[in-house]
Amino acid sequence: MGVKSGFIFLGFIFIVEAIWALFGGKIYFKYQGWQIPDEKTIFGLLAIGLFFICIGIFYKPKYPELLHCKKCKKVYNYVDVKDKNGICPKCKGELQDYKEFENKNREFQKLDKIEKEFTKKSKN
Ligand SMILES: [Zn+2]
Repeated sequence: MGVKSGFIFLGFIFIVEAIWALFGGKIYFKYQGWQIPDEKTIFGLLAIGLFFICIGIFYKPKYPELLHCKKCKKVYNYVDVKDKNGICPKCKGELQDYKEFENKNREFQKLDKIEKEFTKKSKN
């Protein structure tokens, strides 16, 4: 889970708790245990939830830390190529966020594994 979706998820939990409490549900507090929160607490939970969701929505990573060239596959530190306008200094290929590439690669490997499992099973 990314930082962005992490914050939104956290905020969502607070808001669900606040709504739950609005309808008379009990909430677990660290020191008091299970309690029915008062209006102030419910409002607080809502505010915290919205706050986290806002952080999640407006959070932008400063820049990708690693870039990778689509053409020659060389990996660069962002600082080394930040003034190259996304062009590989070596082969003039397009530079891509390395993490994005890695994630896609992982997805692909997962599919590959599933496929291998499947062919193994169908052979037996
Ligand atoms: Zn290149």
